[in-house]
Amino acid sequence: LRRPLALALSAVLLVAGAAACGSDGDQAGSGADRPTVVVTTTILGDVVQRLVGERADVAVLMPRGADPHDVQLSARQAADLREADALVVNGGGFEAGYLDAIEAAEADGVPTHAALDDVDTLAFADEHGDHEAEAEADEGADPHFFTDPDRVAEAAEGIAAFLAAEVPALATGPVRAGAAAEVEALRGLAEEVGRVLDPIPAERRVLVTNHEVFGYFADRYDFEVVGVVIPGGGTGAEPSAGELDALARTIEAEGVPAIFADASAPPSLARALADEVGDVDVVSLFSESLGEPGSGGDTYARMVRTNAARIAAALA
Ligand SMILES: [Zn+2]
Repeated sequence: LRRPLALALSAVLLVAGAAACGSDGDQAGSGADRPTVVVTTTILGDVVQRLVGERADVAVLMPRGADPHDVQLSARQAADLREADALVVNGGGFEAGYLDAIEAAEADGVPTHAALDDVDTLAFADEHGDHEAEAEADEGADPHFFTDPDRVAEAAEGIAAFLAAEVPALATGPVRAGAAAEVEALRGLAEEVGRVLDPIPAERRVLVTNHEVFGYFADRYDFEVVGVVIPGGGTGAEPSAGELDALARTIEAEGVPAIFADASAPPSLARALADEVGDVDVVSLFSESLGEPGSGGDTYARMVRTNAARIAAALA
């Protein structure tokens, strides 16, 4: 049996404790010895927690509110990762700072599943700028599938099947029933968002976002992403003065009322752009990380509802 995974500040003490009493309760069926499922992102962490309920410990590697494109694993986390019973990642290069550790865990025999593998993927849109260098580098699919709750439902079904196949303690009727209910809830959430967005007329279904994160949302709800502040699909690139200028003109020409910023990344460029254009708001969305309790984005369902309400308020 693998020992339970312990993360973050309490890791050293917890691991020492687990090692010291490792012979207790190791018999089959012992409730004290739950498997540990490690999940990279906060969004998938919430989904997986709902899928498995109390039957596994879910350890989420990314902190809430962190920029997933720009977060590094500690050496302790990387070592603990290799002790997981199963590992669930977003995939598509999304957790860029974790890729070596994910590969090492997989090589060590940790069953690993990429959520992106189960969804109907989209390419990054590249017709809105001449980012040829980025287009070459990003030859894979856009990894931000989680902005569409229907695709998260697809991913959840895939994760549930993976966990049932790889973690014997999770191959049970109650886990299957819980997972089915969670998939239903995600589909209901997708419908609910559609109703919230209903008042936005077709000609106002245009998005300018901080980086290219709402492609799947746009695909699901008939929006068009007319521009992004940061080119290249991630949050690390710097737009040129010419690119910002062109985007400012697009915002004016389309009459776009709001620039949607990422709650998990600095809004400084979006604000600078808004200042240049004049009559445009900067609206923060929980685009790719859960927020703290009380923020309106502390669960996946809450972040999706908060985003839908903010988008509807800005564009309807
Ligand atoms: Zn992103």
